[in-house]
Amino acid sequence: MGRCVFRASGRNVKAKVWRVDPSEPDAKSIEEAASILRKGGVVAFPTETVYGLGAVYHMRDAVIRVFKVKRRPPDNPLILHISSFSQIYTLASEVPEAVHRLAEKFWPGPLTVVLPKTSRVPYEVTGGLEKVAVRMPAHNVALRLIEAVGDPIAAPSANLSGRPSPTTAQHVLADLGDEIDGVLDAGETLYGVESTVIDLTADPPVLLRPGAVPLEEVEKVLGKVCVPAFARGLGEAERALAPGTRYRHYSPRAQLVLVELKDYSDLSKLVDRVKRLVAENAGRGLRVGVLCTDETREHYSGLGAVVLSLGSRRDPFGIARRLYSSFREMDSLGVDVIVAEGVDERGLGLTIMNRMRKASTKRVVV
Ligand code: AMP
Ligand code: MG
Repeated sequence: MGRCVFRASGRNVKAKVWRVDPSEPDAKSIEEAASILRKGGVVAFPTETVYGLGAVYHMRDAVIRVFKVKRRPPDNPLILHISSFSQIYTLASEVPEAVHRLAEKFWPGPLTVVLPKTSRVPYEVTGGLEKVAVRMPAHNVALRLIEAVGDPIAAPSANLSGRPSPTTAQHVLADLGDEIDGVLDAGETLYGVESTVIDLTADPPVLLRPGAVPLEEVEKVLGKVCVPAFARGLGEAERALAPGTRYRHYSPRAQLVLVELKDYSDLSKLVDRVKRLVAENAGRGLRVGVLCTDETREHYSGLGAVVLSLGSRRDPFGIARRLYSSFREMDSLGVDVIVAEGVDERGLGLTIMNRMRKASTKRVVV
């Protein structure tokens, strides 16, 4: 695909947009974006999980600007993205053998490891902590950009803090278009949810955030991993343990009522409760949306609600991938209250339930 620079239409957007091919991005666009970063700018770019908002990790003012434009609490640390394994030694003062085994299996890919930091990593990046989070993304645009910059890139998701993470460049522009220097647009991201974050400074290792790599896959390499309640989206973490997992997150503007089952083998109870909640909210004059699955969708027609299916329960990858864009779609359809169905917590289900619980304003367990 040829290089194409234009400004997004529709609103007064300052950001430069480079359309690039996801597998073979043209070198000129990458170099332009990298040069802005090297001068202390902030540029959004795709990864295989979601779009990130990047700054060169040691440029404190640029890192502070990332927090400012996202309205991100300063104690919520950023993940550092590397393009070659050796860069980890610049960032982490100890690299245990387990990291090599994890990297062998998952890098480049959506797994983030938390390790003791070196003095080169500014506290602005880590939210004041002595630990740093590192990963190598599996996306050629991200990898070429890091290479062109010549240094790791600090990048949180490129959304306004609290909003659903962006899975397209259009989502990035809708949230941050007026305030960032540019975005590399390579279309929709593959996973649509963030990386899995594992703290390797603890023994046994701790799951800080479930993500695109299922916990079970990580345990095949590490053995038992500790899963605190906050990693399931329940309760709040101690700040020092898992910063940034404490806030309402990933949320649509609409209220979100999450309906969970203790056992997902019989979905009829779920359907009954969702229908009741639709009727109650519609009765109050609210515009209601139902976020369901292919298995239950037919039960919600004729209720006067906006119905979106996240896909089949047999395809949690697809459900995770569509989750954030469905939240944004419900908002653009003017829905006041979303009634969402929960899924089984196994595999990627844990990630989906973490995001849904954190996005919810109310949770009902049947
Ligand atoms: P985001 O970049 O928005 O996907 O969020 C990054 C998340 O990674 C944070 O909210 C934390 O949960 C986790 N994280 C990043 N750095 C650290 C760190 N130094 N210690 C513990 N967790 C971290
Ligand atoms: Mg985020």
